[in-house]
Amino acid sequence: MKQETVKEKKPAEAQPEAAVQKESVFKTEGINLWYGDTHALQDIHLDQRENEVTAIIGPSGCGKSTYIKTLNRMVEMNDSVKVTGKIFYRGSNIYDRKFPVEVLRTRVGMVFQKPNPFPKTIFENVAYGPKIHGIRDKKILKEIVESSLKGAAIWDEVKDRLDENAFGLSGGQQQRLCIARCLAIEPDVILMDEPTSALDPKSTLKVEELVRELKQKYSITIVTHNMQQAARISDRTAFFLNGEVVEYDRTDKIFSNPEDKRTEDYITGRFG
Ligand code: ADP
Repeated sequence: MKQETVKEKKPAEAQPEAAVQKESVFKTEGINLWYGDTHALQDIHLDQRENEVTAIIGPSGCGKSTYIKTLNRMVEMNDSVKVTGKIFYRGSNIYDRKFPVEVLRTRVGMVFQKPNPFPKTIFENVAYGPKIHGIRDKKILKEIVESSLKGAAIWDEVKDRLDENAFGLSGGQQQRLCIARCLAIEPDVILMDEPTSALDPKSTLKVEELVRELKQKYSITIVTHNMQQAARISDRTAFFLNGEVVEYDRTDKIFSNPEDKRTEDYITGRFG
């Protein structure tokens, strides 16, 4: 019988992979999804690690948006959808019938392609989520609103006009307000579905800077069709094609030395 040898444990700095290994917040195992007869996601295996930004890239219609909506079970809002497989959120399978979806929705915030503030004041937009969760104390609500707006890097621009309607803000400001609204529920993970595609270049850079800051506290999955954006802000990138993950790796690896020819063709602009 082969003798087990106990190797001396090396110090963490001598094991770079082990040292940087972060916990998976989401672990997707074999997700398949159909819209009626359309097999939109095929055997997806991915993970979202703590305090990292994961970018989902790929051409239009390849399942990026569908995938992130499986992470908060938003896809279930469509009656024609059927999902099989498992997604573990901090160790619990969110596709287990017993998993409480309302808990998931408080832990996972979402920011959409087009800024979608409510037709309410700036203050009320941010206070909305905490109020739904039963917070009534005005002082606490004020504190949450201020810290969320600061967290979304928009406080200085709106602190003197909190009682004005959110529709009076620019598109870029509205998107940062929507990020503040998302922070107000104290999420663990933030899902972003092409959050800058409706913004001008200056506002896009502000949101990108913000994403880099937010990952200190949150884990972020971002769908983007903009490869430069993925390269600028993400730690890991998943390349989707026709409902499959072709390649998932560290972003620098995907963009400098991809394993799959299809990834290389896509990132070098041969199709897309
Ligand atoms: P992407 O985000 O990469 O553009 P989507 O996830 O939106 O891709 O779409 C993936 C596939 O699922 C496409 O074939 C699309 O037509 C289909 N699809 C997306 N949403 C729906 C829906 N609500 N009903 C039916 N088919 C849909």
